[in-house]
Amino acid sequence: NRNVIMINRNRLKELLDKELQLFEETHPRSKELFERAKKSLIDGVPMNWMVKWAGSYPVFVKSGHGAHFTDVDDHRYIDFCLGDTGSMTGHAPESAISAIKERIDNGVTFMLPTEDSVWVGEELSRRFGLPYWQVAISATDANRFALRLARHLTKRKYILVFNYSYHGTVDEAFITLQDGVPIPRHGNIGPQTDVTQTSKVVEFNDIEALEKALAPGDVAAVLAEPAMTNIGIIHPDPGYLEALREITRRTGTILIYDETHTMSAGPGGYTGTYGLKPDMLTVGKAIGAGIPTAVYGFSEELAQRIRGTIDIEGADVGGIGGTLAGNALSMAAMRATLENVLTAEAYDRNISLAKRFCDGVESVIKEHNLPWIVKRLGCRTEYWFRDTPPKNGGEAASAADYELDRYMHLYALNRGILMTPFHNMALISSQTTVEDIDRHTKVFRESVESLLGARV
Ligand code: PMP
Repeated sequence: NRNVIMINRNRLKELLDKELQLFEETHPRSKELFERAKKSLIDGVPMNWMVKWAGSYPVFVKSGHGAHFTDVDDHRYIDFCLGDTGSMTGHAPESAISAIKERIDNGVTFMLPTEDSVWVGEELSRRFGLPYWQVAISATDANRFALRLARHLTKRKYILVFNYSYHGTVDEAFITLQDGVPIPRHGNIGPQTDVTQTSKVVEFNDIEALEKALAPGDVAAVLAEPAMTNIGIIHPDPGYLEALREITRRTGTILIYDETHTMSAGPGGYTGTYGLKPDMLTVGKAIGAGIPTAVYGFSEELAQRIRGTIDIEGADVGGIGGTLAGNALSMAAMRATLENVLTAEAYDRNISLAKRFCDGVESVIKEHNLPWIVKRLGCRTEYWFRDTPPKNGGEAASAADYELDRYMHLYALNRGILMTPFHNMALISSQTTVEDIDRHTKVFRESVESLLGARV
C-alpha cells in the first residue's frame, strides 16, 4: 500500500493530538453538555452512533439552515454530512417548511389516510416506475417489511446481501465474508439467531458468486443498493446490474433496490436515472426532509401476487406496519419535499456543484501526486485513500485507514466543515454554495500540506 509508505505515522499522530487539543479548547459548551448528558443518556448521547465522531465528544447543535448549522459554542459549519442523507434537502428547506408547519397545526397522526398520501403514491410511481407503494417510519422498516413480504410470497428461507452493504438495523443484513466464508458482521449486538441461517452474502460485481448463491432456489430476495454507498461509493461494473436482474428473474428471486442513499443519483434515484426494473424498491431518509418516513414500492406483477394473500383480520399483528407510519405529517412532508425540494432542477444544480467538489479534491491530489481518488454518485461525493476504485465491499474495507480518516475529519471540523462520519463522504444540497465547495477545497489542501510536512 503506497499510502503507508508515504504517510509518516508519527507525524499523523502528533497532528491528530494537536487537532484534538484545538477541538477541546474551542468547544467548551459542547463539552459541558456532554458531561451533563452522561448522567442521563448512555455514553452521553441519545443514539449510540452519535459518539462516533472525530472529536473528543460530539458537537451539540443549536440550529441549522440550508447547508449550514451552528453549534452551542456559536461556530458555524458548512454541513456536507447533512444528517447522513436525512437532510440532503438542506436544513429547514424554506420551500417545504410552510406545508409541514401547516400540517402540524392541523393534526399529525390519525391512523387514517390523507389526500397527500394519494399525491405521494402517484409521484413515486412517476419517479421510480413502480406502480404501487406503502409507507414505513424508517428505511430500516421499509427494508424489513420488503424482506418479510418476499419470504411470504416465495416461502424461501434466505436473503442475499452484498459484502459490507448496510441497509439499516436489519438483522438479516449483518453478515460478512471472511476469507470467502460467511460470518456475522463485526459489532452485531445480540443477534436473535445465527445470521448464516437466514442470509447469504457475496461480493458486489461478482456475477459468478451471485449465480452460485441463487442457483439452489432458496433465496427469497436480494436486497441491494444499485451502487454501494456505505463502505464508500462503489459503482456497478458495466453489465453487472443487467446480470443481477437476469439471474434473479431466472431463479425466481425477488430483487429489492434500496435507494435510501442512491437517491443522490437523480429525482428517481439510480432506478429512475438508469431505467432499472426492480421487483421492489425502498427509500427513506431525505424524502421527508428529515421527518421520519420511508416508502417501499412494488412492481405490477408483485402487487398482483401480494393482493389477497394478507389477512385483513390479522393485519395489525402481521409484522408489517407501524402506528405512526404513513401518518398525516409524514405524508405532508414527503409531498412538500418531492414537490418543492428534490426537484429535477435542484438535482441538475447540485450535481454540477458536486462535480466542482470532485474537481477541487482532484486538483489537490494531482498537485501532491497522492495515491488517492475521488468518486461521485450524483450529488454524493467521496474521497478514497487508495489509488484505484475498489470493485467490492471487501476491497473497500481493506483500504480503511481509521487514523487518517479521523485526522482529515477533525482538521475539517476545526475549520468549520462537517464531513460524514465513518467515511469521507460529502453530500451537496440545494443550499450548498460555490463558496462552500471552494472553502472545502482550500481546507482539504491545507490538511494535506500539513500531513506532508509542507505546512506547520
Ligand atoms: N438503507 C441504506 C442504504 C442506508 O444507508 C441506511 C442508513 N444509513 C438505511 C437503509 C437505514 O436508514 P434508517 O437508519 O433511517 O432506518
